[in-house]
Amino acid sequence: MMTEFFAPDALVAVLTTQPLDRTLDYRAPEAGCRMGDVVEVPLGPRKVTGVVWCEGEGSFDPARIRRIIRVLEVPPFRRELRDFLERAADYTLTPRPAMLRLAMRVPDLAAPPGWRKVYVRGTGTPERLTDARRRVIEVLDDHGPLSFTLSELAGLADVGTSVVKGLVKFGAVDEIEAPRDQPYPRLDPDLPGKALTGDQAEAAESLRQAAALGRYGTTLLRGVTGSGKTEVYLETVAACLKAGRQALVLLPEIALTSEFLTRVEARFGARPAEWHHGVTQTERRRCWRMVGEGRAELVVGARSALFLPFRDLGLIVVDEEHDTSYKQEDGVLYSARDMAVLRASLAGAQVVLASATPSLESWANAEAGKYRSLTLTSRYGDRALPEMAAIDMRAEDLPGQAWVSPTLAREVETRLNAGEQSLLFLNRRGYAPVTICRACGEMIACEHCDARMVEHRFLKRLMCHQCGETRPIPEACPSCEMEGKLAPVGPGVERMAEEAAALWPDARIEVLSSDLYASARALKERIEAIAAGDADVIIGTQLVAKGHNFPLLTLVGVIDADLGLQGSDLRAAERTFQLMRQVAGRAGRADKPGAALLQTFQPEHPVIKSILSGDEEGFWAAEAAERRRAGMPPFGRMAGIILSSPDVQAVFDLGNRLAQADAPLRRIGATLYGPAPAPIARIRGRHRVRLLIKADKTAPLQPAITEWLSQVQIRGDLRLSVDIDPQSF
Ligand code: ADP
Ligand code: ZN
Repeated sequence: MMTEFFAPDALVAVLTTQPLDRTLDYRAPEAGCRMGDVVEVPLGPRKVTGVVWCEGEGSFDPARIRRIIRVLEVPPFRRELRDFLERAADYTLTPRPAMLRLAMRVPDLAAPPGWRKVYVRGTGTPERLTDARRRVIEVLDDHGPLSFTLSELAGLADVGTSVVKGLVKFGAVDEIEAPRDQPYPRLDPDLPGKALTGDQAEAAESLRQAAALGRYGTTLLRGVTGSGKTEVYLETVAACLKAGRQALVLLPEIALTSEFLTRVEARFGARPAEWHHGVTQTERRRCWRMVGEGRAELVVGARSALFLPFRDLGLIVVDEEHDTSYKQEDGVLYSARDMAVLRASLAGAQVVLASATPSLESWANAEAGKYRSLTLTSRYGDRALPEMAAIDMRAEDLPGQAWVSPTLAREVETRLNAGEQSLLFLNRRGYAPVTICRACGEMIACEHCDARMVEHRFLKRLMCHQCGETRPIPEACPSCEMEGKLAPVGPGVERMAEEAAALWPDARIEVLSSDLYASARALKERIEAIAAGDADVIIGTQLVAKGHNFPLLTLVGVIDADLGLQGSDLRAAERTFQLMRQVAGRAGRADKPGAALLQTFQPEHPVIKSILSGDEEGFWAAEAAERRRAGMPPFGRMAGIILSSPDVQAVFDLGNRLAQADAPLRRIGATLYGPAPAPIARIRGRHRVRLLIKADKTAPLQPAITEWLSQVQIRGDLRLSVDIDPQSF
């Protein structure tokens, strides 16, 4: 057995976050160290952090091996986490240091725990509340028992620190000394949960038994929106906490609303730890440490929470498991759903994948018996599923440059008269996707990307959705210089808002699109207000499709149900099916039945027909049969290689060299396609070329790719990234 403790001066290998593709040897410090300790080591003239990874190799001159500076007072990386990082690195073909960085993304890691000043709500009140003072008090009131450092509080309230100090004098804010990292309040799994229905109780019991086994297993929990999947998996969390183990609930980032946290609080008497973009630096640090010390029992987080140093992880829930945002698309390319299964298998934990419309991957794994499958068949309280119907746009009398059909408009009016909400769904941000010159036909494109500039009228700018660059909307055509000839083509949500305002001048119309809000928090607050009734007609992109309940919403109108079916992506059918079913599920959650109407020019399209009929099994079976025949995922494996460079010649040369050197791929029976221009052939001035590899499910793909790529040198401005299991192909 490998020793876990290293005596002073013993040789150890440390993995650092520096971009070196191997561990470095050091000598253990005077007090010795343990496997997995987080340490500070000298590297050249610098000090860097790393983790004691394994025994040293003694590869270089023993006299030159330096000593670990110190062991940091933070929880060690347990074997389970180290194994996870290694396996995840091997699977995604990511260098280990880059993987380690995902697990060390926490501020002030090296700072010792100690005491610091924090600010909480006091009881005193100043006589005069300026706007700035009121904002500080609002932040504190909003966050209940949470405390903040001076700079955090001032930042959140958008005031200078002197405003906070001023409030301390009045006693409206108290300054207290607190331990740097306070433990989280205990959750009480013995509080009574809701009385479950027969279906729900059966599923909950089955999951409870699985959790009690204390070993790995994955369950696909299916059920339409509103069937009680959340209630069921909260009971599984309860079982896990009772067993003394930690639980992690992953949600798509946008679904991380206070609504969910409030539900957790209602069930367990306290709020869980949170881990996502919206939490403060201090909170991140606190969460990371407390998770490692086992003093955060439940973490609710976005995909990166998978890399937290859990002490004893017993359960991972991946809610809305089909959601595409679980795939990290820059830096380290990984699927949080797949990594959750990997981590759980190493931790001896259960996984619950919850969805109304599972990914084809999970569906196939359940079919094959690799995952257990549980299904909730009806909505809670016998609320009817929304009525779904197509509006055949070929038969609608609609002027050009208008998108709301008379049929849909009548339905919206009925809702307006009844005081109910309607959602017009269009998955296109901005005013119009294309701006064309009516004189010369030029379509305004981004200078750096192979993409059109999208007009954002509220911001009064054109924006590239690839690189984010914006510029003022020009008066004259950039190509022929004619003035007044530029015209928007096609609809975006902002343009829909204009049309809606003309149709229903008295209605409160609201656009929900991520680019219109300064912060995720501002957006979430607005969503909450709208859910509470603060709008009549909501015009939204896909961010309204998930997360929040809109109890007053009884009508969903899909402006362009055909949108996702265009293009050549083989996942188009799956995505459209999921998105449409999910958007429709927003309607009629409370005591009023809902309806969903899909505007389409092809009501006979098989995907549209299965969306309308709700024949999920039929849809999945047909989709699966087609993918199986083509050897496509999940029945075969794919990997995408993207090469990029500012020099178009260089990037194609490299692609061709790789194509000629494909012997290692052929040896495992894999097929290489390309090089071909990537779906977006230029981003930020870099030309992009794609190669696709297709292999049998059992073929050893990663080692073959490694061998294949090792034959070429990636020099200069060239970049190469490997995407195992790409989202689009
Ligand atoms: P899903 O996660 O499948 O969308 P939820 O768990 O959110 O469904 O349930 C939908 C709504 O119905 C929630 O407001 C939830 O509190 C309520 N609900 C579900 N099951 C029960 C139950 N057994 N008792 C009381 N309320 C329930
Ligand atoms: Zn661009």
